[in-house]
Amino acid sequence: MRWTEYLLPTLKETPAEAEIISHRLMVRAGLVRKLSSGIYSLLPLGLRAVKKVENIVREEMNRAGGSEILMPVLSPSELWTESGRWNVYGKELMRVKDRHDRFFALGPTHEEVVTDIVRRDVRSYRQLPLILFQIQTKFRDEVRPRFGVVRAREFLMKDAYSFHRDEACLAKTYDRMFEAYTRIFKRCGLRFGPVEADSGAIGGDVTHEFMVFAETGESQVFACDCGYAATIDTAECEPVQAAAEAGQAALEKVSTPGTTTVEEVTQFLKKKPSELLKTIIYKVGDEYAAVLVRGDREVNEIKLGRALGTTDFVMAAAEEIEKVTGGPLGFSGPVGLKGVRLIADHRVAGMANMVTGANEADAHYVNVNLGRDFDVREFHDVIVAIEGDPCKCCGKPLSTWRGIEVGQIFKLGTKYSEVMKARFLDEQGEEHPFVMGCYGIGVTRTVAAAIEQHNDKDGIVWPISIAPFEVHILPTNVSDEDLRETAEAIYTGLTDAGIEVILDDRDERAGNKFKDADLVGTPLRVTVGERAAKEGKVELRHRKTGETIKLDRREAVRIIVDTVKDEKRKLAV
Ligand SMILES: [Zn+2]
Repeated sequence: MRWTEYLLPTLKETPAEAEIISHRLMVRAGLVRKLSSGIYSLLPLGLRAVKKVENIVREEMNRAGGSEILMPVLSPSELWTESGRWNVYGKELMRVKDRHDRFFALGPTHEEVVTDIVRRDVRSYRQLPLILFQIQTKFRDEVRPRFGVVRAREFLMKDAYSFHRDEACLAKTYDRMFEAYTRIFKRCGLRFGPVEADSGAIGGDVTHEFMVFAETGESQVFACDCGYAATIDTAECEPVQAAAEAGQAALEKVSTPGTTTVEEVTQFLKKKPSELLKTIIYKVGDEYAAVLVRGDREVNEIKLGRALGTTDFVMAAAEEIEKVTGGPLGFSGPVGLKGVRLIADHRVAGMANMVTGANEADAHYVNVNLGRDFDVREFHDVIVAIEGDPCKCCGKPLSTWRGIEVGQIFKLGTKYSEVMKARFLDEQGEEHPFVMGCYGIGVTRTVAAAIEQHNDKDGIVWPISIAPFEVHILPTNVSDEDLRETAEAIYTGLTDAGIEVILDDRDERAGNKFKDADLVGTPLRVTVGERAAKEGKVELRHRKTGETIKLDRREAVRIIVDTVKDEKRKLAV
């Protein structure tokens, strides 16, 4: 490609609204342009990168046994009503109405549509397992689109769906998809980690998110050297064993006027927050539960939901607390608390001589002991993990990092097939609902995540596997006929050898061309400068390392072709 024939509008200024580096660089290097909030056009360079990722994804999905299909963006509301999601999906679902007043969804995901396809055409266990995938534009009406294409309202996704006769068969495909995802992100040159994640409304098994390491990522990940990694909503904290029995002191009620927060109480009593037991009252359906956690830790409500077995709960209001405990907000405690379900974090078992509220105004108990002064039957991990918590697998301290989620794999079970009556016949002619899995990858988001991870102060540093171009030829002065001819000859030679090349044939100052080359970030740059004329040499530079070698212009094409192959081989799996 010749720059003068191409649309490659680079910018010197940083766009004001861009909060993260990938967004800034995607705009500055001319990959994308914003049309409206959360809606972007891909310019030629951006589209090339997206197509590269798309092709890697496609190859690996085919390799994993998937068949590519293309489902419509528009899906009739009837299907969403059938699955029950038309009403529960909420405002993120984009809806449109046609001229006959029929409603359609602009698909954010395609479980309904693919289940409809399969229930019509797959009838026998002999046709299973079946994996269908597509690479398609998706819509999500984000409250607050941000970070460029990372949190956009319209974006490109690969979504795959698998159909099975039973859980065991699903488990095999799930593992195969896990492997395919690992291959995909390795091939894209990304440092990433599969992370145990919460399945949210879908429920059931643990799912995995694939996170690209990036300081600006929206997700916090807890990880251990042993390989364990989880999100903040799933990271399990190993319960710490009780310290040496300090001996139980006598229970005592003390006056603590006006002290309602952990800080106030512990300062007043000259105790540490870790010696206080927080008692938080929740309304769960029509009943109440008291959640007990150490004073220096916070409740994670996703974990609490799993412990309670429902998402139908809220923190109780002040009047409700008064009614349930007999004392005002800020003075709740488990001693003498009746008719309330008690749920304690694992760590509470290791506490002794605790401070708790006394369920009356301006009073706390000190030297409260589990087993003697109150009893708990339900222990769960319900707290927010923090850096340094012991790993559940090996006990070493967990470290934290931030990441951008680029993929997620789920076991859906029969959630959709049951309600949509999608069934197959087994050997005995008996009907069963399909057991399903679903597997997504954000394609445009993967490109942004790659830039987030691969950049320096001058611009993008593409991994060669997803770089829009592999080689960037830069003649320093196109009015010099000899330079221009040398550059053209290398361009033709490389292009004929199947290398993807951009030739900066603009009549621009060399300084600007070098700056643009760094910004655009092509892995290999060939500079055709004065030396080409004088000594018959050109210069090959690696964008990532800055390593530069001089090549004889007659051998340049052969050596560059070999270098491209070598660089690609490094990312092969
Ligand atoms: Zn570990």
